[in-house]
Amino acid sequence: MRIGIDLGGSHIGVGLIYKDKILDTRQKNFVDSDKVNIKKTIVDTSIAMIKDLLKSQNIAQSDIELIGIASPGLIDSRSIVRASNLSLENFCLTEELESRLRIKVKIRNDAKCCAMAEKKYGSLKKYKDCVFLCIGTGIGGAAFLNGKLLEPNGFSGFEFGHMIIEKDGRSCTCGKKGCFEQYASISSVKKRITTILGERPDVSGQYLREQLLIKDNPLVKLEVESWLNYLKIGIGNLIDIFEPEAICLGGSFSHYEGNPILDRLIVKLGESDTTFTTSKKPDIVLAKYKNDSGIIGATI
Ligand SMILES: [Zn+2]
Repeated sequence: MRIGIDLGGSHIGVGLIYKDKILDTRQKNFVDSDKVNIKKTIVDTSIAMIKDLLKSQNIAQSDIELIGIASPGLIDSRSIVRASNLSLENFCLTEELESRLRIKVKIRNDAKCCAMAEKKYGSLKKYKDCVFLCIGTGIGGAAFLNGKLLEPNGFSGFEFGHMIIEKDGRSCTCGKKGCFEQYASISSVKKRITTILGERPDVSGQYLREQLLIKDNPLVKLEVESWLNYLKIGIGNLIDIFEPEAICLGGSFSHYEGNPILDRLIVKLGESDTTFTTSKKPDIVLAKYKNDSGIIGATI
């Protein structure tokens, strides 16, 4: 039995995990007062939710073999080095939890955790050379070659969202200009579509998916076409670098199953000017575990 912690920009989720099954969860959305001392909030909330989970499931703390944390941002082997959407720097959450709970704790970048869940149990299970692309608030990812997750010695690497696809393009939170995620993340598209429609930027994902299909608004149609073209460029680059057998699209994009946007993207990726390589095009699959992949993958 393991515990997975999913740390997001505005929430924290804790789950009791057995293999790929979530047996029970606790969730908390951060309110403004939580952010005054965000480190204390994260530690105290995680511990309270873990204890509550164990108590309600009648499980002893000693039966938990590992706690895994999926965290946004730049992660080294033990700490959150920088997570700008949580205003965190140099935070050794693993040590804080280990010293208070006496359970082994590990931490990994959230996109890598999602990738691990899909590779071990989900949509990438049958592939050896494959890429996971998390398209959500930003764009993250991971690559597997010969079944093995590629991991640099330093930080997590494979920051696909920060490859530049437009010279002197839009400013990115990372300090560079023209990064892939500024053009192709769900958040960036949501921002531009809601601006066109004159709506608040915090519409639901479901609402956005419906609005993207509006046929009688030429500005929306242009925006969708532009988004798909940037996805084609970014994913095309990844195909040429890794020559994967499959690319798994996760994050909020995993909810595009059955949406014509996905079909249009697959058609674009099959076009002859998408990639250098002329070998068989990779399978395009969606993440099986959707929003749960981080909390499951954190425990792998
Ligand atoms: Zn960037």
